[in-house]
Amino acid sequence: MEKDARDIFKEIGLRVTPQRLEIFKILASMHGHPAAEDVFERIRRRFPSISFDTVYRTLSLFENHGLIKKVHHLADKTRYDTNLKRHHHFVCIRCKKIIDIEWDEIDGIPMPKGVENLGRVEDRYVELRGICKDCLNEEEE
Ligand SMILES: [Zn+2]
Ligand SMILES: [Zn+2]
Repeated sequence: MEKDARDIFKEIGLRVTPQRLEIFKILASMHGHPAAEDVFERIRRRFPSISFDTVYRTLSLFENHGLIKKVHHLADKTRYDTNLKRHHHFVCIRCKKIIDIEWDEIDGIPMPKGVENLGRVEDRYVELRGICKDCLNEEEE
């Protein structure tokens, strides 16, 4: 997300609006994996009248254009990933934090036998579930 948002929008044929630019900026500045609710909360500071629906639709639009990725995991909320490089996740089952991990070994493991009979694999992804350091520290106190 280093390139100027306007150029990126133009390249993929998205109409540039102030709200879209702001949502894009917010996503780029948020570390981790924000939920639509998080983005909504932030953008309301600059666009108090924006609706949650608009934010949600914009995120879906970004997703359809490959600017962000949806993360599926145990939390009830849909979370978005702005890191489009291949990576895996450590998910804290307590605070629902999602931490990116790089794991070259996993990426290099041959596919299990018979996978080709299931279809064409396009991506592989490992999700580790556990309790994050912050939560562990809290436990000790
Ligand atoms: Zn945690
Ligand atoms: Zn991620």
